[in-house]
Amino acid sequence: MGYLDGFKIPILQMGRRQRVTVPYPEQKAPVALRRHGRHVLNKYEDGMEKCIGCELCAGVCPARCIYVRGADNPVDEPVSPGERYGFIYEINYLRCIHCDLCVEACPTEAITETKLFEFSFTSRQDAIYTKDELLVDDEGRPRHLPWEDWRPGEDEHTSAWMRATAPAGNAAFEGRVAWSGELGYGVREPELGQEHEDPAPEPEPESHGDGPDAHDGGH
Ligand code: SF4
Ligand code: SF4
Repeated sequence: MGYLDGFKIPILQMGRRQRVTVPYPEQKAPVALRRHGRHVLNKYEDGMEKCIGCELCAGVCPARCIYVRGADNPVDEPVSPGERYGFIYEINYLRCIHCDLCVEACPTEAITETKLFEFSFTSRQDAIYTKDELLVDDEGRPRHLPWEDWRPGEDEHTSAWMRATAPAGNAAFEGRVAWSGELGYGVREPELGQEHEDPAPEPEPESHGDGPDAHDGGH
């Protein structure tokens, strides 16, 4: 046989019906649950913005692509529950590497990422997303821009709610919710199966107060 052995694998594969490719763009392959895509700025369940303009996300960003400016909340019409809110918020997607460090740094889970990765631009201006594009709509959903290719489910789960629920490896905190509710979604359930297949029983809160607090309604 000699050199004919080289044809053996392709000939065998031709007889198999298992398809490993999908006809993109008509169909997309399933993406990982924790995929990092296009960002959103979230709101609390009552519609208030979560961003407090602290600039921690901008400080931690390795690509220096976030620009934030905070401002005092108007007394009569506060935008966020705190003293300050994100007055200006911009992300330059010509620089962003989707590392998710901004999401990890945010103290209020204001900035999170969807699973959308199919978006391209024909101008630099379009590549710089401002608060108008990043802030979720009145139902808590990401705004769909003309150059973005959204598919069902890509705006269903953002990454912040899936933070580890056992800080410092303490199994007693596994499955314990330590994040606030979101407009349109409420309080998201923790991801199961980090250690066990079944959810762990709710741990008793400790009195010294150094663990994560249970959800208090967001703010
Ligand atoms: S995902 Fe990473 S690179 Fe992109 S804005 Fe956030 S911190 Fe910066
Ligand atoms: S998104 Fe989070 S980290 Fe960034 S300015 Fe707003 S509150 Fe601070």
